Amino acid sequence: MGVLVDLWADTWAEMAWDIRTAFSAAPDRRYVPVGLRRRVMERDKCRCYICKRAGTEETGPDGRSWHIDHITPLSKGGQTALYNLALSCATCNQRKAAK
Ligand SMILES: [Zn+2]
Repeated sequence: MGVLVDLWADTWAEMAWDIRTAFSAAPDRRYVPVGLRRRVMERDKCRCYICKRAGTEETGPDGRSWHIDHITPLSKGGQTALYNLALSCATCNQRKAAK
């Protein structure tokens, strides 16, 4: 029961985010709405754009969760939009962040 409530709470929170970001001229910082995430995944065919290794819909080639990268960082005026997002595995994402 508790788990179910938590799941619903998550779903509702995500939906609220989706709606808020979809209608906002300046989408909230680093959050990538679930719908957009799915479209990035479909476009990139579950393949990391850095190392080109393929994973599944759930996890990347390293067995960890996928990350959605901003190609042009938000700090440099990049947007949370399909053309500026790419799928990256956790390994590449951390390597990039460490720079
Ligand atoms: Zn990678």
